[in-house]
Amino acid sequence: MTTRRQFMVSVPAAAATFALADNFVFEAAPARAQQIDPLKGHFHPKGKAPSKFTIEVLEKAKATLPLADTRDFEEQKKGFIAPMQDLKIMADAGHVAWDMERFQFLDAKDDFDSIHPSLHRISRLNNNYGLYEVIPGIYQVRGLDLSDISFVRGKTGWIVFDPLVSAEVVRAAWKLFQDHVGEGLPVSAVIHSHTHGDHWGGVRGLVDEADVRSGKIPIIAPVDFMEFTVSENVYAGNAMNRRLFYQYGLLLPAAPHGYVGQGLGQAVSAGATGLIAPTRYVEKDIEEFEVDGVKMVFQNTPNTEAPREMNTYIPEMKALWMAENVTATLHNIYTLRGAQIRDPLGWSKYIGEALYRFGLEAEVMFASHHWPRWGNDRVQEVLRGQRDLYAHMNNQVLHLANQGVTINEIHNVYEVPKSLQDKWFCRGYHGSPQHNARGVIQRYLGFWDCNPATLIPLSPRDSAPLYVEMMGGADKIMVRGRELHDEGKYLLASEIVDRLVQAEPDNEAAKDLLADIFEQLGYQQENPGLRNSFLAAAYELRSGIPQGETASSSSPDIIRAMSTELFLNFLGIRMDSRKAEGMRFTINLITPDTGEKFLVELENATLTNISGFLADKPDLTLTINRSDLEQTMTGAKTLDAQIAEGNAKVEGDASILKQLASIMVDFDPRFEIMPGTKAKTEVTGYVESGIKGKADPYEAIPRQTIAE
Ligand SMILES: [Zn+2]
Repeated sequence: MTTRRQFMVSVPAAAATFALADNFVFEAAPARAQQIDPLKGHFHPKGKAPSKFTIEVLEKAKATLPLADTRDFEEQKKGFIAPMQDLKIMADAGHVAWDMERFQFLDAKDDFDSIHPSLHRISRLNNNYGLYEVIPGIYQVRGLDLSDISFVRGKTGWIVFDPLVSAEVVRAAWKLFQDHVGEGLPVSAVIHSHTHGDHWGGVRGLVDEADVRSGKIPIIAPVDFMEFTVSENVYAGNAMNRRLFYQYGLLLPAAPHGYVGQGLGQAVSAGATGLIAPTRYVEKDIEEFEVDGVKMVFQNTPNTEAPREMNTYIPEMKALWMAENVTATLHNIYTLRGAQIRDPLGWSKYIGEALYRFGLEAEVMFASHHWPRWGNDRVQEVLRGQRDLYAHMNNQVLHLANQGVTINEIHNVYEVPKSLQDKWFCRGYHGSPQHNARGVIQRYLGFWDCNPATLIPLSPRDSAPLYVEMMGGADKIMVRGRELHDEGKYLLASEIVDRLVQAEPDNEAAKDLLADIFEQLGYQQENPGLRNSFLAAAYELRSGIPQGETASSSSPDIIRAMSTELFLNFLGIRMDSRKAEGMRFTINLITPDTGEKFLVELENATLTNISGFLADKPDLTLTINRSDLEQTMTGAKTLDAQIAEGNAKVEGDASILKQLASIMVDFDPRFEIMPGTKAKTEVTGYVESGIKGKADPYEAIPRQTIAE
């Protein structure tokens, strides 16, 4: 089923997206796609080569990198058994789910003048693509998704750690594994290390839900896994999905001037995602039990890289699984797609605990991204470095904040200590020191720098016209902006040209200049999220936001994982309260099959609910099984149809449901970020609400799983 809002919602569909970009962007905005001296080899007609200043920045950066340390390349290759032959993996829906072909250019040259050498390095490391032995009895298939899938030999079969994002790539990984070392043995257990989608989304490619329900195949996860799997991405989900276009550069083709990987892995696969509820939760801080005859010690690490996450130690193999808590990068304290700020001090302490609990004897350490580390010295070196990286960031940022450095300055002041900069696994391939440092201040002190001028500032578009006027008008800004650009002072140039674009969203010359400025800043970044964000903004300034939809279906599994309370909370967010002024009613919602009851009230233009309560005199009582309600939440059956078929029972004033439906809004993930980038041409076939009919207002708007 394809619905109107699945346009960008599903977009980590790299191939589908690029096809979309090709088909729509330039055709939809022909006026903008002027063929002015296109740079050879650049994917965009307005694209520019790196300037001499950018090349200088990259050369200087290269001189500071610990290039003599080549252990990552040795470790990445170690244990290689077989390559994955097919560079493309097809989705069941017919599109390409995974495409490694587009990253082959990374190995063609030792240097690209448009890619930071350190970023190029991690992207080459992430070009590993195939089956690897970690130690006898532990294997990984790497490079088939953003994450790795790991197989540990149990008594009767294979214990699987973290089955990727989508079913198709998991099936391909399983086949590759079975072709060489799987011995034809079945999956005997699945472990989800944490709540992010790249660690569970492909589970249905591996196991049949009936086998999980019957107890044949346990699925093990940290406590509260289901609650946190969905909740992190619902309330601000539409905004997060839009922001993924920046952090993950979803519209950028893989190319030297475009997308070059995501640091954690090359990209996110685009097949079918699913979720099966775990059957065993690890509840205590430390819990030890056998999984298919293998003794495992689980360490819960809540509120680290994910709201719920756990490390695992396998004593008889001296193998330490560090989930996503320790990979080959500085991870995100603040993630650019948007999320609550993580706790770097807690994260550091859990790594420290893993070091002293398991790391003193572990002989191999593996994780859900990147490659393993062998030998106790190396395991300890990486654990110690990562422990100190997060603690240093927490402590030194707060040290500076306590001396008056603000959120608007910290990224220019804070520095990772040299001893950690020299460790490749502390480089900013996912989190950057800059945006993480700002995140630490945000966590403890919030957004305000304490200068009243920034306390309740004008909106950028309201203040910009005065700036433009005071700077002497658009022409002067363009002259000075171009000078600064030509002098390589890109951040200064962006300060003034951004004001002009804010004031004059239709000023094509200004948008083009700002795009040129952003493009150079993008080329200069080591961190893929920063690079992608600059390049994505340049892309949208030049081409506008593509309009259209992709063919992708949403996963009912995700809706099933959404609690009724979460669904009701989200209805309160979807409701346009400006239209609810004057409305007042009370609804009792009862779901007999789950034994839940909710008191829902609309009052003061606000929709609230409280679980476990019912009103004495409700205006309406709605009784519906949760299993039927899910049909409505997924858009498979309208609430009206549920009532007509007798699945939902209504007592009282049924017109209330219509009132409520009339004030629900479908969020559109194509909102503008940079001014004047909304493409003017609507693509035919895009079914926008209000134009070609509206979907059921009680649909829950499923979100694509967000990988991390
Ligand atoms: Zn991950």
